[in-house]
Amino acid sequence: MNPQLAQTDLERWTRVKARLQAEVGEDIFSSWFARMELEGIEEDTVRMSVPTRFLRSWIQSHYAERVLACWQAEEAKLIRIDLAVRTAVLRQAITPPAKPAEPVRTVLDARANGHDFRGMPSEPGQHETAGGSPLDPRLNFDTFVVGRTNELAYAAAKQVAAARRGDGIMFNPLYIHAGVGLGKTHLLQAVTWAGNAQPDNKVLYLTAEKFMYGFVSALRSQTALAFKDVLRGINVLVIDDLQFLQGKQTQAEFSHTLNSLIDAGRQVVIAADRPPGDLETIDERVRSRLAGGLVVEMGGLGEELRLEILRARVAAARLHHPQFEVPTAVLAMIARIITHNGRDLEGALNRLLACSKLTGAPITMELAEREVRDLIRPQDPKKVKIEEIQRIVARHYNVSRGDLLSSRRTANVVRPRQVAMYLAKTLTLRSLPEIGRRFGGRDHTTVLHAVRKIEHLVGNDTSLADEIDSLKRQLQE
Ligand code: ADP
Ligand code: MG
Repeated sequence: MNPQLAQTDLERWTRVKARLQAEVGEDIFSSWFARMELEGIEEDTVRMSVPTRFLRSWIQSHYAERVLACWQAEEAKLIRIDLAVRTAVLRQAITPPAKPAEPVRTVLDARANGHDFRGMPSEPGQHETAGGSPLDPRLNFDTFVVGRTNELAYAAAKQVAAARRGDGIMFNPLYIHAGVGLGKTHLLQAVTWAGNAQPDNKVLYLTAEKFMYGFVSALRSQTALAFKDVLRGINVLVIDDLQFLQGKQTQAEFSHTLNSLIDAGRQVVIAADRPPGDLETIDERVRSRLAGGLVVEMGGLGEELRLEILRARVAAARLHHPQFEVPTAVLAMIARIITHNGRDLEGALNRLLACSKLTGAPITMELAEREVRDLIRPQDPKKVKIEEIQRIVARHYNVSRGDLLSSRRTANVVRPRQVAMYLAKTLTLRSLPEIGRRFGGRDHTTVLHAVRKIEHLVGNDTSLADEIDSLKRQLQE
């Protein structure tokens, strides 16, 4: 969020988002709009941004009028939406930097033009593989740092990449899920590079976005058959960011592709930001097929792992920029304070590299602290899982999790169950039907009833309110 926005604009933005969410529903909202940010309002124009070009074109072609209408409900004089792709350049252009930013900007421009900036602006570092999404040669197994939270995913990915056609397939699909910036794309591209290095092996890496675009545009140009042939002619299909797969027809095609590949003994590798059961826009049968192979979660990067990643990055950068030296104490400081994800670690090093290249100044602790200060984020509110809510609530009320999911209607289970549903509604983005499904297949009206009931009770019963507060705290810490 742009820090320079006026409070009133921020409040309007909050209302616009709520309106939009009410109109399109939670699922669509979280798939397409959750990462949209307000950049500013000028006269008749609202300027907003999203992190990828794909999101921008999708929102522009499908939701532009809706978004504008939501703004107009706030302020009738607004007649234009300007949606940009968020980059460091954009940020700098809007927020005047406190210090002369010219040199740094030269480097960051690479990011606006290319896809992802990885510290060496002179090298585009992107390869288009036949029909697939661009691959970055730096994202391979050698550069992937293994630690406790990702070793299982790493081992599985290695195994998949090394398998030869005709070998028995051990787990299919391999489904990896993790939060943003925790290495999913890195691992998937590593599988693709390694797999394609083998003779007679063909691995196709596609983002879900590319899958959708490929299919939709193939349909338009009547080459859908050719597209299907390409997909079916490969040994390993790798699909990144599956949570973005949308649309009935694409889904049907995806389901068909998945089934035919798996049934033909071809490997499928998937990454998403959530487990298969939480892919709400995806058909139930597809979800269960996805869950039928090996599902692995990658956890957050611990401090040690972050330090390792930074070390590896510096070593890689030094191959091209031998003068780039970062004292260990500086690396340790960055590893300690930038806890969010791998992308921010990379961003921090890129800034140091830019400074070092452009000013020739040695990287001191002071310089580093100044450069990376704005990359430190307040801890994101922890993502709470429904299972976790059920576990904690069951423990608190001394019943079992099975009781909460069961159809028993005795008072000692009914109340805890309602509390758990209420917490699921307030602490997660899950929809009522989804919550119902996760509570032993109940109807969404039951969930709604529970939520209303607890809301009502909390207003009148302070001890219940305290109890709920304490449960919330336990879940969020
Ligand atoms: P995701 O796809 O999960 O959002 P990425 O794979 O794009 O995350 O990772 C973000 C950045 O962090 C990339 O630059 C990636 O190389 C780096 N990174 C994440 N995990 C690791 C790791 N285990 N080892 C090395 N680099 C990592
Ligand atoms: Mg990714």
